[in-house]
Amino acid sequence: MPTSESLWGKMKRLILNLTIFLSTCLALFSVLSPGPVLAQGEVEVGDSVEIAFPLSVTFKLSVQSDTPVSDIRLQYTVAQKSFAQVISEARPDFSYDSGLAESNWTLDMKKIGGLPPGTRITYWWLIEDESGNTYQTTPRQFTYSDDRYSWRAITDGTITLHWYAGSDELGMELMTATQDALLRLAGAIGTYPTEPIDLYIYGSSQELQGAMLFPREWTGGVSYSNLSVIAIGINESNISWGKSAIAHELAHLVLYQKTANPYNDIPLWFNEGMAMYTQGRVEDYYEDTLRQAVKEGSTISVQSLCSPFSVDPEKSYLSYAESYSLVKFLLTTYGQESVSYFLEVLSQGSTYDEALESAFGFNMGELNDIWLGYLENQYLPQQQSTPPWAIASMAVLSLALVGIIFVILRTRGKNRYE
Ligand SMILES: [Zn+2]
Repeated sequence: MPTSESLWGKMKRLILNLTIFLSTCLALFSVLSPGPVLAQGEVEVGDSVEIAFPLSVTFKLSVQSDTPVSDIRLQYTVAQKSFAQVISEARPDFSYDSGLAESNWTLDMKKIGGLPPGTRITYWWLIEDESGNTYQTTPRQFTYSDDRYSWRAITDGTITLHWYAGSDELGMELMTATQDALLRLAGAIGTYPTEPIDLYIYGSSQELQGAMLFPREWTGGVSYSNLSVIAIGINESNISWGKSAIAHELAHLVLYQKTANPYNDIPLWFNEGMAMYTQGRVEDYYEDTLRQAVKEGSTISVQSLCSPFSVDPEKSYLSYAESYSLVKFLLTTYGQESVSYFLEVLSQGSTYDEALESAFGFNMGELNDIWLGYLENQYLPQQQSTPPWAIASMAVLSLALVGIIFVILRTRGKNRYE
């Protein structure tokens, strides 16, 4: 689904102005209590973290040491599905006076593109004194939470759903829809997610956009697949849209969990088509758009649908319509096991053609032709052809007629010659 849902289209003036946001929402939340908490060797260390969601995290350190401190570094990692652990390092300024060194460093979220609520960050400090002694604080983990709201949460299996607006029933209803979507997806790809997934339901698209540093006007839902977080704006007035948005984003995330590898993504048409399939119900205009394109011979090739879809609305709708049709075609014609195997081969980093060949026996160009032929059969008027039973009946009738004429002629002949 294009996240540019019509509902959000109507809300075009509602992006939070960053200035307003700064003045109203810049509350600092202390995550860890400051003060000396750890003694290592001859230093006493106190550290704390302050979150100003979604803008920054400030790490603070105080060190008591009789020997002057010569170097302070902060190291941290963001918990994510990646193929190599990335440790970031900062070397902040510090002061040293009367046996006390103090330092702080701010992680400016704008510099890293922002992080969603629920992201877990682990950090530790490295301290060196002028005698060459080095110290490392015990690694500590905290959750980068959006404490501007009072979240409630429910967990079912691997899914934890967080919400703050609306009733408890709303949370339950959305969780039920989420589990239904997982069931539908599992029916198509053969597996359930194995790693925890957090869904953050904001009370509206504006509030969701207020949680993002670079929101686009139409953003109604966003999936941070490598962080296993989905954030969507849902309230009582758009529950039905919200349920499909959850299903759609969830499919993207589960597909990522299932197939992520350092070499290749899954084809875009498959990713979007499966996300639409997981929604369960897709608006009629997608099929109308596809039928029209098949009639006009203006479909977009499967190969082209591996690249980002056109921003032109008509082409974009057609791209989604084709993607959905392709996934449904593969599922109904070749079954869940082949589709599941296709993903398994892709997860090993194979090319799209290799994965298609192994799972279905054709490459992408051939898929394009077979699928188009299937659609043309459905959408184009067929030549009036005579069914086999009619041909057989006509043959029998003709034979009978010839027989009758033969008998008549013979009878007449006999009469004549006898
Ligand atoms: Zn999508």
